[in-house]
Amino acid sequence: MSSFHRDLHLEKFIRTFHLLVAMALDELLRMDLSDHTTQVIAEYIWIGGSGIDVRSKARTLAAPVIDPKQLPKWNYDGSSTGQAPGEDSEVILHPQAIFKDPFRRGNHILVVCDSYTPAGVPIPTNKRAQAAKVFSDPVVVEEEPWFGLEQEYTLLQKDVNWPLGWPIGGYPGPQGPYYCGTGSEKAYGRDIVNAHYKACLYAGINISGINGEVMPGQWEFQVGPAVGIAAADQLWCARYILERITEIAGVKLSLDPKPIEGDWNGAGCHTNFSTKSMRTKNGYNVIKKAIEKLRLKHKDHIAAYGEGNERRLTGRHETADINTFSWGVANRGASIRVGRDTEKEGKGYFEDRRPASNMDPYVVTAMIAATSILWDPEK
Ligand code: ADP
Ligand code: MN
Ligand code: MN
Ligand code: MN
Repeated sequence: MSSFHRDLHLEKFIRTFHLLVAMALDELLRMDLSDHTTQVIAEYIWIGGSGIDVRSKARTLAAPVIDPKQLPKWNYDGSSTGQAPGEDSEVILHPQAIFKDPFRRGNHILVVCDSYTPAGVPIPTNKRAQAAKVFSDPVVVEEEPWFGLEQEYTLLQKDVNWPLGWPIGGYPGPQGPYYCGTGSEKAYGRDIVNAHYKACLYAGINISGINGEVMPGQWEFQVGPAVGIAAADQLWCARYILERITEIAGVKLSLDPKPIEGDWNGAGCHTNFSTKSMRTKNGYNVIKKAIEKLRLKHKDHIAAYGEGNERRLTGRHETADINTFSWGVANRGASIRVGRDTEKEGKGYFEDRRPASNMDPYVVTAMIAATSILWDPEK
């Protein structure tokens, strides 16, 4: 046998071996525990020190739980997540929302938590506590605020930090054929996107759709309409699931608002919003009043809409300039867009196009609700 053929045999053998190992692991991962024990696994999820990284760890529960109030509080080492000094490192997790776990299945759950000091004070990266206050205000509750969050994201080749499908050290052809495109030279990473779509539906997330984006390797999913704080809880859980799936695929998830400089679209998180008054007769007038209030608070909102957003909001690539507030019907170059249907029917919703892909949905949704529902510029 030539050495060439020996190498070929060896390579085949190694490949078969890896496949057998993967199958053996898969069998264990799929094991249905419910035949053997009432115990279930709860994966506690929280936001880390950067305000955008998601962390998680798991614990065993004696029996299935469906109400977060029945779940035990837990703790973690905040000095390892950039959230507490080493000498007083304990941070307390408060379970807030439960989702079904698409990875472990069965009665196993994902638990979205927020973080507190042992004395019960929200730590600085906990933006949920403040949002929960806004969304439990009786005036806000009465208005049933709905959100539709369009999360854009970019898939990167892990070791080179360069978009999926792009030639290493080079660029694909100019934008045009990629948005909602099909074909091996236009859509990069669709299996990840579809796996995520199904996993979110399984989890109980109100995911309303997915689409390929203008920049190749960039995709979008939408959460909503979801009511009040549930929209942000769901978006964080959907981000977590996406990062777990990209981990399996060996691909890197980027929420950078402008991953590639130059003539390439950035990534946003358009926030669609309506209140009960906006959705009923004469709602368009309520929408216009809300937009006027958003204009007056443009600077405050921009400051809270995500890190690095100035690289994205240039006035090009379907964005409005970061320093200029504008709105318009069907205008994708405006800060706020109102849909044709809303104008025609005289009621509906509007889209805040300013938030960046890396925004914290607790901050953005609560701020839009506070400005448009609670704030009176004349007082
Ligand atoms: P775009 O045309 O900007 O790409 P998408 O279809 O991607 O819009 O996303 C729109 C989002 O707005 C969806 O998640 C949808 O469920 C949500 N939405 C629809 N109606 C309302 C409403 N009345 N209030 C808030 N959100 C809404
Ligand atoms: Mn969209
Ligand atoms: Mn989009
Ligand atoms: Mn949009």
